[in-house]
Amino acid sequence: MELNKCKRCGAFFVTDNCVCPNCEPKDTIELSKLKDFLSENSFPNSIESLSFDTGITTKNLNRFLEQKDFSSFSSLLQSDNSGNLGIRL
Ligand SMILES: [Zn+2]
Repeated sequence: MELNKCKRCGAFFVTDNCVCPNCEPKDTIELSKLKDFLSENSFPNSIESLSFDTGITTKNLNRFLEQKDFSSFSSLLQSDNSGNLGIRL
């Protein structure tokens, strides 16, 4: 088993997830919030406004939107030079 660094809090932990066991419930809550938001609203025109509307940080949004649950939105997204996802206008 390898040590992973939690994508949310930076703690080291041993599982195959990208967040530690402490942060997993927060990820789950935010993911369902994001799904609910996107099922009721049209996709906003920037990650920043999506962050503002959902209360989820842009860092976490970028991570969530790379997951295959959100692949239907991936055509709306593009990576910028620093590798962050942005919304294609
Ligand atoms: Zn964590």
